[in-house]
Amino acid sequence: MGAWKRFTQKERIAYFSMEIGLKAEIPTYSGGLGVLAGDTIKSAADLKIPMIAVTLLYRKGYFLQHFGHDGWQQESDIEWLPEKHMQLLPTKSLVTIENRDVKIQAWLYNVKSPTGGEVPILFLDTDIPGNDPADRNLTDHLYGGGLELRLKQEIILGIGGARILAALNFAVKKYHMNEGHASLLTLELLNNTRVPIHELHIDNNGYMEQVMKKCVFTTHTPVEAGHDRFPYDLVERIMPPEVPIDLLKEISGPDALNMTLLALKLSHFINGVAKRHGEVSQNLFPGFEIHAITNGIHPFTWCSPFFVNLFDKHLPGWANEPELLVRVDNIPDEEIWDNHCGAKAFFLQYIKEKTGRELNPDVLTIGFARRAATYKRGDLILHDLERLIDIGRGKLQFVFGGKAHPKDDEGKKVIQRIIQKAEEMHGAIEMVYLENYNMEVASYFIPGVDVWLNNPMRPLEASGTSGMKAALNGVPNFSVLDGWWIEGHIEGVTGWSIGPSPAEIDQEIGRAPEDLEDIYQKLENIIIPLYYEDRPGWIKVMKNAIGKNAYYFNTHVMMRRYVTDAYIH
Ligand SMILES: *Cc1c(COP(=O)(O)O)cnc(C)c1O
Repeated sequence: MGAWKRFTQKERIAYFSMEIGLKAEIPTYSGGLGVLAGDTIKSAADLKIPMIAVTLLYRKGYFLQHFGHDGWQQESDIEWLPEKHMQLLPTKSLVTIENRDVKIQAWLYNVKSPTGGEVPILFLDTDIPGNDPADRNLTDHLYGGGLELRLKQEIILGIGGARILAALNFAVKKYHMNEGHASLLTLELLNNTRVPIHELHIDNNGYMEQVMKKCVFTTHTPVEAGHDRFPYDLVERIMPPEVPIDLLKEISGPDALNMTLLALKLSHFINGVAKRHGEVSQNLFPGFEIHAITNGIHPFTWCSPFFVNLFDKHLPGWANEPELLVRVDNIPDEEIWDNHCGAKAFFLQYIKEKTGRELNPDVLTIGFARRAATYKRGDLILHDLERLIDIGRGKLQFVFGGKAHPKDDEGKKVIQRIIQKAEEMHGAIEMVYLENYNMEVASYFIPGVDVWLNNPMRPLEASGTSGMKAALNGVPNFSVLDGWWIEGHIEGVTGWSIGPSPAEIDQEIGRAPEDLEDIYQKLENIIIPLYYEDRPGWIKVMKNAIGKNAYYFNTHVMMRRYVTDAYIH
């Protein structure tokens, strides 16, 4: 009996994602989108939600990050062995790309929960003897190459993925597209309706509706320019012949194949990933009904061993019922503080081993790590070094981390500026930029600092999830009011805001000077004094981060919303 056959007995939610992050050893993710996908799958397994996930097997990963002496990011391929983690299935599927047949194979990985729940994941791969050499490395790199490779990968994910599910006899209740990369699957479903696809017309609503009933779409991108769009001459050259261009133009825009529009048109449930992002998306896509389901994090994955022990002792059952964290006030202050100091000491030791730098465990430590995309403004806090030294000499230290996309020179410049300024600041305020931020580094980093800083340009942070990981470990957020923090923030209670309130925010993106002033002002007058002069007051904020943020902003709560709002309809 095939290893997958026991999963085909009941209908499943087929969850499609261009990236899935389960753990650092399986490097098939780049950042928040992939980690969210992994956390979603883990909570589905814990909650025994019948799901099957589909993604690509990136044999060379995203990339390993190194810094040259000048602080400029360099990349190298990640080497890993899929066969050490997953099992190759014998069944293959076929797609046509550039008029060539491309065979696709699938690797099966089972996410197993202590509750007994299990979610299988199919990692698709074209590195098969018999494929044209040019096609064998199509699935090598996540987000490598240009538009052409991206389209080919999205054909493999959407069309190839839907076909391999059918070939393996999976019964699919809903197709959940995590971002627009997977939306070509809708064309495969249209193809499988009773009418031959070349006779399908957008007015044949019956057939569109059959597909819509099966599809759920989660959008993650709050700006028009961020959505995948493929020119039709490229599409005509690359796409399988069974997809008629005229139909495509009717559905997904006359000028270019807009993957988001395709998913919007063919899904019965559409959502953004935080309340604010739902509203922003509604403005971007008038005419569609956009819901909001706020992202979460998988509680057990993102809790440091120190807090796992603490929660197990005082709130048993918390990992599968994170709502119990609301009772955090039953935990004595000293135990919260001691375990935080444990997580911090562990992280400082890790930094010492990696960089040779010794940070002081008694100094208020601010952490900032995420993809080094320019909108995240990683170097904002360094704009006025004199002011920062005035405020923080001897009282503050910083740890940074995050990768820039290999083609994003602006992102690499941000990293380089931070590294160079860190050298200038040495002796006044210590700053470290850690190499190769990934899920493993994040698991030590986020629980091991005292404050989690986030200052993206509004409204570009659709949700943000690293702040939820911080809250779970009693690390308060100091963040711009965007994404999930609009919902999680109570000023001075769960953490602190940066810049104007959401009500005051207009369309204008940025407002760096105002945000920066707020950062310096709150550090000086509120955060530093609280940390050094009122430890019980500080621990209160730590507890509120757990009891008022982490109990709610997790993927268990989120998955229950997907089930009740999207999956059972
Ligand atoms: C959680 C996580 C992210 C997402 O962080 P944001 O601040 O929400 O962008 C990115 N990278 C890694 C490795 C993570 O674990």
